[in-house]
Parts: sequence; C-alpha cells; structure tokens
Amino acid sequence: MEKRPWTAEDLRFMRDNVNTLDNSELSRILGRTEAAIKNAICWYDMQRDHVVVVYMRANSQSGEKSVHWKGGPTARKIRRRPSCREYTRVYRMAYPERELAHRVIRDSKRKGNIKEQPCEICGTIVNIDAHHSDYSKMLDVRWLCRSCHIHLHQRLEINQSV
Ligand SMILES: [Zn+2]
Ligand SMILES: [Zn+2]
Repeated sequence: MEKRPWTAEDLRFMRDNVNTLDNSELSRILGRTEAAIKNAICWYDMQRDHVVVVYMRANSQSGEKSVHWKGGPTARKIRRRPSCREYTRVYRMAYPERELAHRVIRDSKRKGNIKEQPCEICGTIVNIDAHHSDYSKMLDVRWLCRSCHIHLHQRLEINQSV
C-alpha cells in the first residue's frame, strides 16, 4: 500500500463533500483507502455534521470486525492516533442522549430483542441505520439505509429552519 500525499485539490474536495459523501464513497472517488480518508478527516480536522458522524461511528464499530480494519500499517496507525478517539469522546459528551440511544439499540440487537429491518424507504438490506425520531423513546426506531437516512435528516433540517 503506497502512501500518496494529500494535494490541496483533494483536501478541498474532501472539505466540500465530507457532509454529503460517506467514507467509502470518498475513498472510491479519490482512489484512496477508507483508512486514509478517516485519517485525513481526523488529521485535517474537517467538520462533519452530527448525522454524518453517527455514520462514521457506526462504521468504526462494525469496522473492528471488518477486513478493512485488519488492513495494513495505516489502519494500525489510525487506531493509535489520539485525535480520532478525541473526536469520538467529544461527540459522546456533546450528545449524551444520542450516545445512550445508540448504545441501547446496539445492545438490544446483540441480545436479539430487536432485529434490524430492511430500509423502509428503498427496501435495501445493506448499511442499515436505526433512526430515532425522539431520543427519549430509545427503542422506537425507524430502519433506514444510510443514504435514505442522510436524505431524511437533510429534509428534517430544512423543515426545522423554516
Ligand atoms: Zn434506503
Ligand atoms: Zn436519524
């Protein structure tokens, strides 16, 4: 795995698209590994809005078991880098109710109390997220795929601002 330095152009593209594309899409478009994308986001301190961060966290949780995670020296390096952990820690502190709600869903899924469903909008069964309309109703979720989930949040944000 060769290391390519980040060009200003690549970084500009990252900044412009970090809230609309997920890591795998950025990785495909820029021709870099997902680990390199994560690395750049932490390293260059790019601002992602909370919705996108939720996906990043969901990815990194399942990532422990994924083949990508076990990957080369880059992956191990990121694991040790404090800025990524710091990022997660700050997120958890800023949104304790979200953190709790997501943990409850994770635990319930593991115990088999609830089962992940296909996306209720497009019907896909990959990359499914649990969407909470109300974080205080922790088990009351809608199952949406990542891309439908992003679109839903974009619509919600537009509605809230009018
Ligand atoms: Zn969907
Ligand atoms: Zn949501």
